[in-house]
Amino acid sequence: MTATAIVLGSGTSNGVPTLGVDYTPEFLANAKNHRTRPSLLLQGPSGNLLVDCAPELRLQLLREGIGMVDAVLITHTHADHIMGMDDLRSFCLKSKRDMPVYARPEAQADIRRVFDYAFRPFPDGIEVPRFDLRDVPDPLVAGGMTIETMMVLHGEMTVVALRLGDFAYVTDVSEIPEESWLRLSGLRTLILDAVRIKPHPNHFHLDKAIEVARELGAEQTYFTHLSHDFDHDVTNAALPPGIALAFDGLKIAVTDQVGSR
Ligand SMILES: [Zn+2]
Repeated sequence: MTATAIVLGSGTSNGVPTLGVDYTPEFLANAKNHRTRPSLLLQGPSGNLLVDCAPELRLQLLREGIGMVDAVLITHTHADHIMGMDDLRSFCLKSKRDMPVYARPEAQADIRRVFDYAFRPFPDGIEVPRFDLRDVPDPLVAGGMTIETMMVLHGEMTVVALRLGDFAYVTDVSEIPEESWLRLSGLRTLILDAVRIKPHPNHFHLDKAIEVARELGAEQTYFTHLSHDFDHDVTNAALPPGIALAFDGLKIAVTDQVGSR
């Protein structure tokens, strides 16, 4: 199995640039400092799994030329991860079926509340998204990919993290429980939360993320969920070898081949 992971959005909940903030022309001139909210696409041999639905979902998928999403995994229901779910209507219309959406039970309740119109009867000819809510299995099989799912903590919230072969995605995390930690060794590529420079109660900050990246020891770690604290080029020049900032549009080749666990 080979797959491709595409970072659709590498930004924190505000997005970067953030509304109402003044930036230097140098900062704005670098396209990699323009960060949409966090989403990831896994392109498998037989379909696409979307991980989270950022508010810019439509723009992210147009940018990457993605014509179909076959299933969705919601890591948790903070607004920056679900507010693009209405855009899934296009794929429901195209496939003529409800979109499979994998989410934890408490997240399913949030999705029913926020998008209640998507679960109500509607007259023919009215276009709304339809969600087929499902619990998160481990493994989750989608698009010809067998994806390990595991839990991490984001403050007091439980968030779904995932591993596919030699790749893992751990967004929105302040603590990795041991049972998940043990499943994140032997990675070629890890994408990890590093929200800002100062400590944050619900996220890894830069120094903590570097410490965790070193301990997990992936060949390459990319930081995501990035605030405007980070100028892409300036930060990358200062990061240790094997650690870099992600950016919108980053593509990562994923294989089944797994190193020692
Ligand atoms: Zn969050």
